[in-house]
Amino acid sequence: EGSDSSSEIADIDMKEADKLLTPEEKARLEMQQGRDSLPVFPYRDDLLKAIRDHQVIIIVGETGSGKTTQIPQYLHEIGYTRFGKIGVTQPRRVAAMSVAARVAQEMNVKLGHEVGYSIRFEDCTSDKTLLKYMTDGMLLREFLGDPKLTGYTCLMIDEAHERTLHTDILFGLVKDVARYRKDLKLLISSATLDAEKFSDYFDGAPIFKIPGRRYPVDIYYTKSPEADYVEAAVITALQIHVTQPAGDILIFLTGQEEIETCQEMLQQRTRGLGTKIAELIICPIYATLPSDMQAKIFEPTPPGARKVVIATNIAETSLTINGIIYVIDCGFAKQTSYNPRTGMESLIVTPISKASANQRAGRAGRVAPGKCFRLYTVFSYQQELDETTIPEIQRTNLGNVVLMLKSLGINDLIHFDFMDPPPAETLIRALEQLYALGALNDEGDLTKLGRRMAEFPLDPMLSKSVIQAEAYKCVDQALTVCCMLSVGNSIFYRPKEKAIHADNARKNFFRPGGDHMTLLNVFEQWKETNYSTNWCFENFIQMRSMKRARDIKEQLVELCKRVEIDYADEKLSTIDDELYTNVRKAFASGFFYNTAKLSKSGNYKTLKNQHTVHIHPSSSMFETLPKWVIYHELVFTTKEFMRNIIEITPEWLLEIAPHYYKKSDIMEEEGKKKVKMPGTAK
Ligand code: ADP
Ligand code: MG
Repeated sequence: EGSDSSSEIADIDMKEADKLLTPEEKARLEMQQGRDSLPVFPYRDDLLKAIRDHQVIIIVGETGSGKTTQIPQYLHEIGYTRFGKIGVTQPRRVAAMSVAARVAQEMNVKLGHEVGYSIRFEDCTSDKTLLKYMTDGMLLREFLGDPKLTGYTCLMIDEAHERTLHTDILFGLVKDVARYRKDLKLLISSATLDAEKFSDYFDGAPIFKIPGRRYPVDIYYTKSPEADYVEAAVITALQIHVTQPAGDILIFLTGQEEIETCQEMLQQRTRGLGTKIAELIICPIYATLPSDMQAKIFEPTPPGARKVVIATNIAETSLTINGIIYVIDCGFAKQTSYNPRTGMESLIVTPISKASANQRAGRAGRVAPGKCFRLYTVFSYQQELDETTIPEIQRTNLGNVVLMLKSLGINDLIHFDFMDPPPAETLIRALEQLYALGALNDEGDLTKLGRRMAEFPLDPMLSKSVIQAEAYKCVDQALTVCCMLSVGNSIFYRPKEKAIHADNARKNFFRPGGDHMTLLNVFEQWKETNYSTNWCFENFIQMRSMKRARDIKEQLVELCKRVEIDYADEKLSTIDDELYTNVRKAFASGFFYNTAKLSKSGNYKTLKNQHTVHIHPSSSMFETLPKWVIYHELVFTTKEFMRNIIEITPEWLLEIAPHYYKKSDIMEEEGKKKVKMPGTAK
């Protein structure tokens, strides 16, 4: 009978019950148990009460306590999603994607349905979406279309301690919205304890602390500074692997290139050891890694093996990887740095702050006592590292953000409610640049051009180039170049053992005019093969970067239609000189500010500031050394390098930016000195 059989089931012990579940059911059960054992779980009801009673709450909890994945689900469970969405911002795209995927899994729904994510150039949400994870930059964009954010009942500004530029701007905007939308709940969550600052800013909002579990972490320093921290990281990882008990390793490096080098070195050196050592599973993680490979870092390590995750500072607080016992910290991170006086922004490998170093070390102590190996000296840590990282708003170019705020009708930027205001000089410089680009008029108001530029989720210089390409009848090509530039420096693949072949393949793509033309050529050839995988393989081109460029392009084409940019491409041949000239002129209209000239001494100097810069060795112009160039960006490694450059004719500057350059700027040295440097001419 029915009742008999049910009591029978109740009597079966857990081990037996396991056998009655499908592997999927078992996995779900385990996941549910995992949710209930997170540090935030015992505080679920208290937290929900606090949210009920206050409009704004600051939430502080150790990384991995369940803030990002659990709190939005709790809110959903008690009905917050009945009247709108819950939005959760993340400073990093990888985190937004990965966390959304995890939550979808926990809720047993398809990613993109009830749980989705939105990052630049990729919208994985639908009408059904209730929990929306997104980058802080995307929420900022949403303000443009809906300044009251009427679609949301609750917003969680997560990873607030990171103080990214976009998060800082969001603070000001959401604080304002919360004033006239009393039904909107605001959660500001952070992994660090200095939450008072957030509380003060949000008019004394209460701070809710989630007590974390943290095991002790032993810290080890190097005796003397390391000349090559990638090499040092490899050696340290291998030493841990052969001498230390089980537990996974997390290595912090600064970027994709270093991570790949580290990965190759580890592979090479463990290969030599064969079966003498346990298996070492190597998992890289950085922003442009495809999502299937990102997922690999979360897979449990099989017994007997050891996992080593090589990450950028994405793994500092945004992602939690279970099972890490050992942390290797190189002590550096890539940071933007901006000099408002010269208007130059570059990406620089910079020493991290003490706060970052401690976050990194903390990753070793989540599941058991751990060890952190700092690849720097105790002296460096104590004497040389800053206490905290300077907020991005104080060390970056604000062009983008100012354009966006202007389109939101926020004109008085000096009095905007910044948590930490940017240097006045930086703000003024941004306004000047937008004025020079034609986005603002004399009164500082947005022009028609500026309004169109703001529609593009691109840097103002890039949006200007794309819009200007219309006049030069090369919108299609300019968009292609723009997308290729947007995917970063991951187009060409250069395996160490085939470096010569790869370099030759790359050189075959070179086109006169500069790197933009080379990128255009790569894309168009790929297109001609009907986007062939094999072609990419044969030409040492990274297929996934190309696919990404193609996706981005599709979206920009849509955008062009919306802003009514005449996209009609009268098919000009790609080897057409005139076309190449036009594409370069289009980019010069956006980037004229970045002009450099080869000086007599054999160095390049920027035209406006006489700042010495160099052509990056990866450039197709590295050997040709044209006299006049415009660069896309500056990177500082050993020197200040211009990456991705085009050759120009100086007269173009007068044609394109007559308000910015005068004839004297492009005259030869002799004539120029007298005009330009009255201070030194005696
Ligand atoms: P917090 O935001 O407080 O740092 P999270 O909510 O991100 O914490 O993480 C809670 C738990 O969920 C952690 O144990 C973490 O390992 C796990 N987790 C998060 N994302 C994933 C994922 N993509 N795959 C597997 N586990 C994950
Ligand atoms: Mg989190």
